[in-house]
Amino acid sequence: MTRSHATWHSGIAWLRHHQWDAFRATLREPRDAAAVARWRDARLSMLLAHARQQVPLFHLRAPSHATRLGADGAGEELQRFPVLTRRDYQEAGLAGTLAGNVSPERLLDRSTSGSTGERMAIRRTWLEERLLNCFRWRAFRSYGVGRHERTVNALFHGNADPRDDQRLARLAMALGWRQILVVDALGDDAAAEKAARFAPHCLTGMTSALAALVDTVVARRLTLSPRLVVTTGELLTAPLRAAIAAIGSPIRDLYGSNEFNLLAWQCPAGQGTYHVCDDAVVLEVLGPDGRPVEVGQAGEVVVTGLHSFAMPFIRYTIGDLAVRGPDRCPCGAPYSTLMAIHGRTIEMFRLAGGISLHPWTIHNAVRPWLGMVRQASLAQMADDRLEYLVVATEAMGVAEEASLVAAARAALPACINFTLRRVDAIPAGPGGKARPFVALRGSGG
Ligand SMILES: [Zn+2]
Repeated sequence: MTRSHATWHSGIAWLRHHQWDAFRATLREPRDAAAVARWRDARLSMLLAHARQQVPLFHLRAPSHATRLGADGAGEELQRFPVLTRRDYQEAGLAGTLAGNVSPERLLDRSTSGSTGERMAIRRTWLEERLLNCFRWRAFRSYGVGRHERTVNALFHGNADPRDDQRLARLAMALGWRQILVVDALGDDAAAEKAARFAPHCLTGMTSALAALVDTVVARRLTLSPRLVVTTGELLTAPLRAAIAAIGSPIRDLYGSNEFNLLAWQCPAGQGTYHVCDDAVVLEVLGPDGRPVEVGQAGEVVVTGLHSFAMPFIRYTIGDLAVRGPDRCPCGAPYSTLMAIHGRTIEMFRLAGGISLHPWTIHNAVRPWLGMVRQASLAQMADDRLEYLVVATEAMGVAEEASLVAAARAALPACINFTLRRVDAIPAGPGGKARPFVALRGSGG
């Protein structure tokens, strides 16, 4: 059996496991919160039973099945599962975290190298991957971006798994069902021109890639005026929002993670809240005591993926802080909400003198010169030393380089040494892509 056939075979087996209605759920928005809750409870009890039986990590850690449950059923059972961290998953390894009824070699590798340099292994079936993407497409449709709207997707660099069969997507493009142009916003010097020529209705992509693309559009006086910009993949900080807003289009933000894909999306009705994807995840915002925080308070984001069976993520801490919002959005949509997302605690550089530095501080300081940078990686070499590896274009002369370094140093405490090193290429990290930020190993969460 070829790999491709094997993938299909596992996919069909997976569909038989009652997943078909999960796909149907992504075709339209749920009617009301009670319907979401019923559906969620049914999925959750299936997932918890599966994890208990098939996944070694949960053999020991799951609460005793003999525990009698009250009326809340699956939701109450979930609360008895321990909160797990990335480190718990790393220590358990693939052998401990994959379900016993899947063949590891048939799964897609969605691993992330992570900003702390600690690789997090993530596996999904091909169909699980498609399903999670369907929830993402539903969010786009809620913004009025359907398959007829031309979309530009701006990324850093390709990080595709060659086994992630894209024939369906290519067929849809060839038949004109979907019109998507993918550009490499930092590696391709002509990305801005390509995006402008495509005249997209929707511009989407990694938040910092979009900021870089918009910078170039403005610098080169190109015309790019999509009806909507949808930012993904990274925290939408105020400076990044301001940079992207330079083209004048409204911005909506998607909040997600590699482990779960879409977690929440900014309210399409413009309430400023994020709608939590309650029919794909159970998202808890927990305080230091492990209990849910009050509405309006910040806490740690702990997530359970309702549709990941090959590698279940149950009460998994993704390392973000968020502010809990009302249980229903004021716009009337049947979702719980977040009021703000404070980003990844693990992205911080821990520097000498107890200073925590968000890498974006440097990134934002040097943004005026990023149009001359093909690729860059900011690495922490010691607790008082940062090195900026840069693959520069011909446009960056000695004077430009000196101004960039001066701007970065001005953004840093005086005790921190910052140097720039020009290189021909930036080596790929363990995830197969060069990492924009590399903190000292083990300095993160
Ligand atoms: Zn809303």
